[in-house]
Amino acid sequence: MRGGGCATGVCGTPGTRLLPDCRRLGKGAPGEEFGFMRDIDLFQQALGLPAPWCVERSVFDPVKRRLDLYLDFARGATFCCPECGRGGCKAYDTTDRTWRHLNFFQHEAHLHARTPRVECERCGVKAVEVPWARAGSGFTLLFEAIVLMLVKEMPVAAAARLLGENDTRLWRIIHHYVEEARARVDVRAVRRIGVDETASKRGHHYISLFVDMETPRLLFGTEGRDAATVAAFRADFERRGGDGGQIEEFCLDMSPAFLRGIEDSFPAAGVTFDKFHVMKLLNEAVDQVRRQEQRQRPELKGSRYVWMKNPENLTQKQLALLDGLEVPRLNLKTARAYRMRLTFQEFWMLHDDFAEAFLKRWYFWATHSRLEPMIRVARTIRTHWAGVLNWFRTRITNGVLEGINSLLQAARAKARGYRSTRNFIAMAYLIAGKLDLKPLPT
Ligand SMILES: [Zn+2]
Repeated sequence: MRGGGCATGVCGTPGTRLLPDCRRLGKGAPGEEFGFMRDIDLFQQALGLPAPWCVERSVFDPVKRRLDLYLDFARGATFCCPECGRGGCKAYDTTDRTWRHLNFFQHEAHLHARTPRVECERCGVKAVEVPWARAGSGFTLLFEAIVLMLVKEMPVAAAARLLGENDTRLWRIIHHYVEEARARVDVRAVRRIGVDETASKRGHHYISLFVDMETPRLLFGTEGRDAATVAAFRADFERRGGDGGQIEEFCLDMSPAFLRGIEDSFPAAGVTFDKFHVMKLLNEAVDQVRRQEQRQRPELKGSRYVWMKNPENLTQKQLALLDGLEVPRLNLKTARAYRMRLTFQEFWMLHDDFAEAFLKRWYFWATHSRLEPMIRVARTIRTHWAGVLNWFRTRITNGVLEGINSLLQAARAKARGYRSTRNFIAMAYLIAGKLDLKPLPT
């Protein structure tokens, strides 16, 4: 994958040695007074430099807490052509460059080298990649590996402080490796997708998440939460070698935007509405009934969470509260709505042969309850009828997305937000993408 094959010694270009004695290239050695000249071989080995590269001199400045290692290649050394791999190419010209390397204890370490362009008979003049860094990066591969390790454990700003680096430069590293790893993701086996949104900033800023439900892993994240995000997912999926037609099922909540997007971009795919979302709507409806009723029945104040739970999960205190409400005698509307919610819960346990008949009966009950919030939910279910019943066929829920969502929100809180949505999405891939990041040459 990386160029400069012969620099790793693989192609065995004649005349290269693992530890060439090029330390006397005629330049001065300002680090000599600190006794570091004797350690050039050590640095050479620690860096794992392949021929023809060698450490030519080192400069250690204890005041600036800085170690500078000057690398070079022996006069007359040859390289492989980065384009065609042909060995024996001589340096055509060179450019001086610098890379930040791992700290040497508390001292910042920097590598310096003149990087050559070679002249290949076939390909012309080409820049050679150096074995310790990727093209265009101001960091060594080892430094980047440490960055990727750190940012999985701590916010990028914290990693930047720890390393004494600008966090914008660290984000650049993250974006590079995330994109590179995403390009290698194999999507050919993906059949089932869960879609959900997550807040990217304070206020109404969202990103849409598309998750492969089998693995599970985040396949795609994009700004917004409308039908266009589904079209963007399809385009991204096909850029990665997938085929939109291979997606058989989507799991989503009953919000119309994603649904419209799926109908447009994946017309052949089945849709299952997330049962946790259905239950959430029912819970909210029960709460609305309670809030309306508590105007006439102030004793309902403070009972909100009693109606959110199943009876077997109530605490002693909540049970006492329920007793105090004297539910049967008062025939509370809230209690009726609550029973409707509890009954709906049984729906998910039914054998699929009975599911639709049950749903019809429940719908009749709810729409004749004279409880406006329950009627509204029943109608929402009516318009999503097939997708609710599809659960009995697919058994998919967005539970996985809930988990991913809470990981992302925890990271966002720890980072105290991200400077850009792009950064947030990159972090989402790092956390939930199951990406194979490869900061080191293989
Ligand atoms: Zn060539």
